[in-house]
Amino acid sequence: MKIDIVTIFPEFFRGPLEYGIVRRAREAGLVAIEIHDLRGFAHDRHKTVDDRPFGGGEGMVLKPEPIFECIEAMNVAGREQRIASHAKESVVLLSAQGRRFEQNVAHELAALERIVLICGRYEGVDERVAEHLADREMSIGDYVLSGGELGAAVIVDAVTRLIPGAVGNEASTRQESFTLHPAQAVDGPDSTCASGGLLDYPHYTRPADFRGMKVPEVLGSGNHDEIRRWRRRIALEKTLRNRPDLLQGASLTDEDKRLLARTKGE
Ligand code: SAH
Repeated sequence: MKIDIVTIFPEFFRGPLEYGIVRRAREAGLVAIEIHDLRGFAHDRHKTVDDRPFGGGEGMVLKPEPIFECIEAMNVAGREQRIASHAKESVVLLSAQGRRFEQNVAHELAALERIVLICGRYEGVDERVAEHLADREMSIGDYVLSGGELGAAVIVDAVTRLIPGAVGNEASTRQESFTLHPAQAVDGPDSTCASGGLLDYPHYTRPADFRGMKVPEVLGSGNHDEIRRWRRRIALEKTLRNRPDLLQGASLTDEDKRLLARTKGE
């Protein structure tokens, strides 16, 4: 997979892409990430990439020409092709007004061959980029950031760890919080408490007793079925407590529904 990032602050990405899973995925050749300096596509002496807004108002707006020229120099498919089904490429504009980036979108992007992330700054980006160049606008959450770079780093991280081979144990990415499709059958207790759209269950490691705070006994019992049921129950409780909205879209078994009803009753 190839990921291109368009930014006026290329140095920004020195940190976020050089650690852990993303770094290893790059080194292993699973993903190639290229940072493009938007100023390289400005034509004047001052490398101007922004201008005042038509109609008046606060701040500056990123101009369309350098962004269009930068993307055109990348040889990505035309917008029509990218919008069509079975597209293999996507040009994404980071925007607080975009569709929300969530785990299901990360899966969607991880299946592509190439994604281009355009980072806005100032008051935003000339709307013609969203309308005629990008094929989607994406927001990483309901808050306003000062630039698209953090959003791009979030997307690169979430997408890269879904590329086959990026995470050592692939089963683990199927069982994490939010993941909707159920895990494929694997032996052991972990495979059977897959998220199914819920939050992840809590994890513990040694020591079993840390300053009097004990790891739940059931986890040391060796009884896989009991462990599975415990994890599922706690995941349900935690989702109900912290993110009840997720229960709407979660795939719940009859046992889940019974557990939930009991928890709500308590
Ligand atoms: N005036 C805009 C905010 C501009 S912030 C508004 O009110 O919607 C400047 C840039 O930061 C945006 O162009 C976008 O690229 C980025 N940005 C801000 N918030 C974001 C978010 N929640 N998700 C993704 N990108 C965001």
